[in-house]
Amino acid sequence: MTTVHTSVVVPCFNESEVIGAFHAELVAALEPTGTVFEICYVDDGSSDRTRIHLLDLAAADPRVRYTSFSRNFGKEAAMLAGLRMSCGEVVVLMDADLQHPPELVPRMLELHRHGFDQVIAQRDRSGEGPVRRTLSRAYYGLVRRFMEVEIVDGAGDFRLLSRRAVDAVLSLPESNRFSKGLFSWIGFDTVSFTYQNVQRAAGQSKWGGRHLLNYGIDGLLSFNSRPLRMAIHTGLWLFLSAVCYALWIIANVLLDGVDTPGYATLITAIVALSGIQLATLGVIGEYVGRIYHEAKRRPHYVVRETNTSRAAASARELTDAASRQ
Ligand code: UDP
Ligand code: MG
Repeated sequence: MTTVHTSVVVPCFNESEVIGAFHAELVAALEPTGTVFEICYVDDGSSDRTRIHLLDLAAADPRVRYTSFSRNFGKEAAMLAGLRMSCGEVVVLMDADLQHPPELVPRMLELHRHGFDQVIAQRDRSGEGPVRRTLSRAYYGLVRRFMEVEIVDGAGDFRLLSRRAVDAVLSLPESNRFSKGLFSWIGFDTVSFTYQNVQRAAGQSKWGGRHLLNYGIDGLLSFNSRPLRMAIHTGLWLFLSAVCYALWIIANVLLDGVDTPGYATLITAIVALSGIQLATLGVIGEYVGRIYHEAKRRPHYVVRETNTSRAAASARELTDAASRQ
């Protein structure tokens, strides 16, 4: 049996309109490179015909492997399942909607041959609305300040990982997974190149504004305890300014006698402080929630069916679990 060199991992959620075209383009891009490849599709509990399409693809092409979830578990879980399925020396992660152009994969493989463990295809922001662009700029600015790992604007999940990088990602046990952070955390020699942003070929994006906001908060919180540190700093500064203000009032009373009390100042101070306290409580609550979530140690997803042998899949999960201990 020939050993697989390149595994392409593709999470799919309601992509029936585009999956056929994607598969054809990907195969057309990979075949000329002469690499022995497999494509690991993960159906993330789609409600359309994506699963049926994947079954057909797998029946027609022995290089196709698939896993289907029992419900929608999210892209992070789907990527994790795909990484666990993959057996290639090199793994390429990409979206099914043709926003990650398959013709860039040979270039990524070429860069990997030069010794890089991670090759990131970074999109520019052309074709995006001004609001989304400004918001993402602001977000990445914030992330750079508050996060311990570096996250680059436009560097999404379209990337190539070497086997040792994949093993490093799989050895991270957390259930709240923020891949962009995990990929950056594992380190290794990384190179990136920029490509022009492409609009989705068909179907709809699953990331509305609210979803993106929550994803952003996840990213900020899942990687460090800096927001907690910030809360302590804010508290200390407020305490210090309150002390100064109190001294000023005392001095005023000593010099000019008792002044009329400042009702407006008082109300403003109370409201501002309550706001800060509530926000801080929220931050703490968010961390406690995460601890609760991690403590349950639930699996990341439930598999409905797969054409990857159960033995191989559970062997990989066992190795992951062993490497965690
Ligand atoms: N996706 C997934 N599970 C989800 C949402 C999305 O597997 O719950 C997949 C989706 O099929 C696609 C990729 O993740 O292959 C990126 O999703 P999308 O194109 O909706 O995101 P966008 O490109 O708009 O950020
Ligand atoms: Mg997309």
